[in-house]
Amino acid sequence: MFNFSQLPVWSLAIIPVAIGFLWLLFRSSQEHKHQQSTLSSEYFKGLNYLLNDEQGKALDIFVKLVESNWDTVDTHFALGKIYRKNGEMDKAIKIHQGLIARPSLPERYRSKILLELGYDYLGAGWFDRAEGLFKEVLIQDEKSKEARHNLILIYQQEKDWFKAIDIAVDLFAENPLLIGPMIARYYCELAEICKAKGDVSQLINNANKALRYDAGCVRASILLGDQERDSGNDKQAIKFYESIEKQDPVSLMLVIDSMLQCHRNLSTQDKSYEYLQALQQRHENLFLQNVIACELEKLQGKKVAISYLSEKIRHQPSLAGLQKLLTYKEKEIDADKTFADLLTAIAIIQKDSTEYRCNKCGFSTNTHYWLCPSCNHWDSVKPCVIELEH
Ligand SMILES: [Zn+2]
Repeated sequence: MFNFSQLPVWSLAIIPVAIGFLWLLFRSSQEHKHQQSTLSSEYFKGLNYLLNDEQGKALDIFVKLVESNWDTVDTHFALGKIYRKNGEMDKAIKIHQGLIARPSLPERYRSKILLELGYDYLGAGWFDRAEGLFKEVLIQDEKSKEARHNLILIYQQEKDWFKAIDIAVDLFAENPLLIGPMIARYYCELAEICKAKGDVSQLINNANKALRYDAGCVRASILLGDQERDSGNDKQAIKFYESIEKQDPVSLMLVIDSMLQCHRNLSTQDKSYEYLQALQQRHENLFLQNVIACELEKLQGKKVAISYLSEKIRHQPSLAGLQKLLTYKEKEIDADKTFADLLTAIAIIQKDSTEYRCNKCGFSTNTHYWLCPSCNHWDSVKPCVIELEH
């Protein structure tokens, strides 16, 4: 009697393939009544080998089957995918290389097999080989979006931004909303390289190209704003920083300090205070209370800052706000040791709380990233905001 509990865990992954086999078997029995009996007995033999973990023997049978009937090639693809999912790239590669080497391979399957082999190489970390294959697919099938997308992923991994842009530009017209932001990111990467080299004109050139492909590209606005600030053009810098509100209000938190510095350089702190107030009204979820309190303190003194913060804390309690308020109070009153201890405790907790969070995978960090190191999504790591109850 066959006992499923004795099967290795690996075999369980084979069950979907087994179902696939049976379905293919049914289909082929509809189409080729005559071949049915030989095909089915061979299939069951192969299936049996698979379930007994004798993959080599199973593969020999399936290769023979595909020789006599290429309609069975889907089983190879399914098997290859399972190997790949299990991290057994060598086996997946063997399957797909075996198919490519068949003299009877019909032309219509070539691109698909090359793509699958490309995925195997990607999984194995052999980017050069994968790149070669995806390029070959493009020679066979000029329109293959899959090959182009994979090439872009490879170039992104290799930080070859020029090549990534070249390929992405070909896809832009078909899907500007998806591809535009991609191209913009690559131009921003180029702009960062120019910034590090001190090549200001190319920095500006690349950041502007990024904005042309994606008007919502926050990173390009920050690059341009910082550049103006560093060149002493504070007014221009403020314009770029303020433009971020339209792109993504939450990302304004990334430039608040720089923006305030520009206002200080221009001695326009009154304007910056008004701007912050209005901004907080437009976007309640931005954590601006501490910034506003600081500005208030400079403009109207500590007492006003304290009463503003006390009021704010009541409506939007936050550790950072509380810490700021207690720091004011500590200097004002003759604080005893308990008060000092409390403040230290809050400072420690506050230090551990995170400033940025990825809205795709939840990764928390105190460093801002444009590409999430955890889930590899672009622009998903954002400054933390106040969660409003409505
Ligand atoms: Zn993430």
